[in-house]
Amino acid sequence: HSVTYSSGNWAAFNDNLKSNHAHQLNLITLLTNDIEHEKLYFDIQPQVHLVNRDIIGGEVLIRWNNDLLGPVSPAEFIPLAEQTGLIYKLTDMLIEKVFKWVSEHPQVLATQCLSINISALDLLQEGFARRVIGSVSTHRLSAHRFTIEITETSVFNNNETVHNNVKLLHQAGFKLAIDDFGVGYSSMQNLVALETDELKIDQFFVMNLLNDAQSQTLCRSMIDLCDALEIASVAEGIESEGILQLLLQWNCQVGQGYHLYRPMSPVHYLELLAEKDPSLSAPTNRA
Ligand code: C2E
Ligand code: MG
Ligand code: MG
Ligand code: MG
Repeated sequence: HSVTYSSGNWAAFNDNLKSNHAHQLNLITLLTNDIEHEKLYFDIQPQVHLVNRDIIGGEVLIRWNNDLLGPVSPAEFIPLAEQTGLIYKLTDMLIEKVFKWVSEHPQVLATQCLSINISALDLLQEGFARRVIGSVSTHRLSAHRFTIEITETSVFNNNETVHNNVKLLHQAGFKLAIDDFGVGYSSMQNLVALETDELKIDQFFVMNLLNDAQSQTLCRSMIDLCDALEIASVAEGIESEGILQLLLQWNCQVGQGYHLYRPMSPVHYLELLAEKDPSLSAPTNRA
């Protein structure tokens, strides 16, 4: 049935949907369909060296803008994709899209890196690393320029499949970042066991740095922990210069956040790179 809603009714209709199971089912149906038709795309949020403000790379963030629902946050649809098993197809599709885009715009990796979020479920899948490694080599890209971001779950503890996947990815040159460290489940043991290259300090701690002593203590401890283990610390959610200065003072060297750059389209990201370094305005043939 097709029903026409005036724009006034639309918000109410949306609110109503969100409050019930029908909404979840509706979301799953629409998401399945849009993944099938490759309608999901991605933005990139630049990551910045806090000392000199150079852009050192970017984080790929998935986007879903549905014809009926409008934009839906990944915070809402990623958990749903995980619950329904859609996540495997979604991750494969995203990685393929990113590699293809990068191979068409080699200047993206000329001096910069790119981080890609994957789900913990992906790492629990036999053969995941092999597929990613196959794909990176098909596109003739250097794995060394990519970081895989994962959010831990308790399932990771001594899980052989997870360890094998991470080992293979490392051997191929990929770096590993632990995302959202300190919120939800995180294990210090896994930091070491998985040979983590980078720890991302969650925006939850970073955003409140200026007015919350507890966040300060926790943030500082995480940076110190990284220093001691020789793991890079990356702060996310930097929303002001004051926060940035505090992080710098504590020796956190890399960060991202609205104060620096918001997530942007790949086209804008290319423009930004070219603006910062004119030699990157055209694809280079340098290997
Ligand atoms: P995340 O990986 O921790 O990504 C950081 C989130 O913080 C992004 O939200 C980003 O837009 C937002 N952010 C960045 N700077 C600031 C800031 O200064 N202030 C505030 N308030 N927020 C900031 P986004 O894009 O909505 O993504 C939410 C989460 O969804 C991500 O958290 C990640 O866990 C997940 N996600 C995003 N893309 C993917 C993907 O391709 N695959 C998977 N599996 N998960 C993804
Ligand atoms: Mg992330
Ligand atoms: Mg994060
Ligand atoms: Mg986060």
